[in-house]
Amino acid sequence: MAGKDYYNVLGVERDASADQVKKAYRRRALELHPDRNPDRADAEERFKELSEAYAVLSDPQQRARYDRFGEAGLGNGGVAFDPSVFEDVFGSFGFGGLEDLFAQFFGGAAGRARTATRARRGADLRYRLEIGFEEAAFGTELKIRVPRSETCPGCHGSGAAEQGLVTCSTCGGQGRVAYQHGFMQIARTCPACRGRGQEIRHPCEECRGRGRIDAERTVKVRVPAGVDNGTHVRIQGGGEGGASGGPAGDLYVEIGVRPHERFHRDGADVHDQVQVGFSELVLGGSVDVQTLHGQKTVEIEAGTEPGTVIRLRGEGIPLLGRHGRGDHLVHLIARPPRKLPRQERELWESLRELEQARLRAERSRDAESAKTSEGRGLFDKVKDIFGGES
Ligand SMILES: [Zn+2]
Ligand SMILES: [Zn+2]
Repeated sequence: MAGKDYYNVLGVERDASADQVKKAYRRRALELHPDRNPDRADAEERFKELSEAYAVLSDPQQRARYDRFGEAGLGNGGVAFDPSVFEDVFGSFGFGGLEDLFAQFFGGAAGRARTATRARRGADLRYRLEIGFEEAAFGTELKIRVPRSETCPGCHGSGAAEQGLVTCSTCGGQGRVAYQHGFMQIARTCPACRGRGQEIRHPCEECRGRGRIDAERTVKVRVPAGVDNGTHVRIQGGGEGGASGGPAGDLYVEIGVRPHERFHRDGADVHDQVQVGFSELVLGGSVDVQTLHGQKTVEIEAGTEPGTVIRLRGEGIPLLGRHGRGDHLVHLIARPPRKLPRQERELWESLRELEQARLRAERSRDAESAKTSEGRGLFDKVKDIFGGES
């Protein structure tokens, strides 16, 4: 037999029943789905060949002529292709028809009219929100005004004034136009109206035909306790409005924390400085400090060095999204006084005399013990270490 072997293309015996032909076509067509066939051009070619074979073998008259005379028996016009054949086969398992079938198989070119106005999710938005140190520590609830675009309420997004829509002249309101692809006629979305089937004659005044307006919306932001600079709070549906009934996007609120006048934050820990007197460091004492959670008393042990850090556990910032809190760290600062009241000065002068006498005694005792323990002076030992001559 001359020409193509349609039975071979479908993979059926020559005496296959109409039902077997149909099943074979369905199975092979699905095998050619682009998801399974990276080479799209090849899949499309084989799909056409398969469809041609099916168009012939599913029609009893054409099949009879083909069986007797081969491809030549089909006449000059080749295969008389009938789209209803596709509808018949694919309609039963979920494809809406020929266009849907092609849209699914070979991209959106032949997509249905409704694909042009398919619901779209609105864009996500970002917003930077500055809050106070303590608001960040304890959490807060704020209302912010967010500029965003929304579907125009005047025209519900159509962009047309009342009765401003007219039937599309390109597609006659069909939303699609047909074109010839080989022997097949394929419908594609009308480029003039983008599938809507209608054109705008009088645009909506509110949105000037855009279908969208710039709006401002008040959004409530619940800031959880423990947020820090750069923390994002997501508000579902707080972004731009969707199109054609699609959902709104999300709003991402980025937190900025203003510095505190005295506290310094490090993660969940709070650092603070408190000035203490030298006498407190020497003799010990206690000092009241302010924390985020109220006033606390810090005990200073006798003989504490300046710059010592005292940690108050759990008195810092709540941990974000967890139980527990950071610490409050008190840095003990001691500075020599610049100006002294007379009485204090006199006491410091007396103290200096006593201190100097004590230090002199301690130094000579140290020098004495160094000599007796080693039999030699400290300076001799230093000379030994640095190789000096004695
Ligand atoms: Zn409008
Ligand atoms: Zn049109």
